[in-house]
Amino acid sequence: MKPDLITTIAEIRALCLDLKQSGRKIGLVPTMGALHAGHGALMDRARCECDAVVVSIFVNPIQFDRKEDYDRYARNLAVDLAFCGQHGVELVFAPSPGEMYPHVQHTFVEVTGISEKLCGEFRPGHFRGVATVVAKLFNIVQPDYAYFGEKDIQQLAVIRTMTADLNMPVSLIAVPTVREPDGLALSSRNERLTPEQRRAAPAIYAALQLARDMVLQGVRDAKAAKQPALAKLAEEPQLRPEYLEVVNAETMQPVSEVSGRVCVAAAVWLGTTRLIDNVLCP
Ligand code: AMP
Repeated sequence: MKPDLITTIAEIRALCLDLKQSGRKIGLVPTMGALHAGHGALMDRARCECDAVVVSIFVNPIQFDRKEDYDRYARNLAVDLAFCGQHGVELVFAPSPGEMYPHVQHTFVEVTGISEKLCGEFRPGHFRGVATVVAKLFNIVQPDYAYFGEKDIQQLAVIRTMTADLNMPVSLIAVPTVREPDGLALSSRNERLTPEQRRAAPAIYAALQLARDMVLQGVRDAKAAKQPALAKLAEEPQLRPEYLEVVNAETMQPVSEVSGRVCVAAAVWLGTTRLIDNVLCP
């Protein structure tokens, strides 16, 4: 069944309030559209655990550090709506930028520490934009559960910290990364790859797995654990790594000695497309 498309805050708020008052648990899946099976996994999980599933589709201007990335971001609401319908979603909230930001935004959510390394170092203001829009969505929809992908592991850590620090009454559910058969993490940005770049891209996950193997074999020196992964990326001239780091899985701070749960995370450029991926160890 096709979900209802809601574009105003007043209307989605009223509908969600009705759902809550009738005792139904709401699951929110925040997205930027261009939906794929990765988003589908979040929706399916929400469908299993909640009485009503709300998907937000909003390409959030304040989280883009490069205007051309924002302008190029794939948008196709009709296709996305049909996709949501196939995953049992009741409500799609797709506001315009003017609806979400009717006047200059003066208030931002800044999650210090966790936001600062990895993507935070290379995309200034990105996590401030993400945390702010997610806080707005939580206030608008007031979900009981919200679903996020492990693919964006630092984003997940930022949102987790924000909800805990600001006592937001929502339970976060992390969903494992959905991959192509060759290992490439599904991403809306994969569509931009040329056939040659697409052939090179699976080396990112292969490299991350090499680092994970090192950690699982007991290598404690992070630099040594990273070495085969960096060598793997270097074999592919199309790939330009921005970072490849071993970080604490909760704080997202790079470690020099591996202890406890870590995550190996990378951002890699292929031409003008930037892809991110990570693996958790163990
Ligand atoms: P996006 O539309 O890229 O902002 O992503 C919306 C949500 O889908 C985020 O929580 C992402 O982490 C999640 N997501 C994106 N790609 C994947 C994937 N390949 N596997 C699982 N979750 C994903």
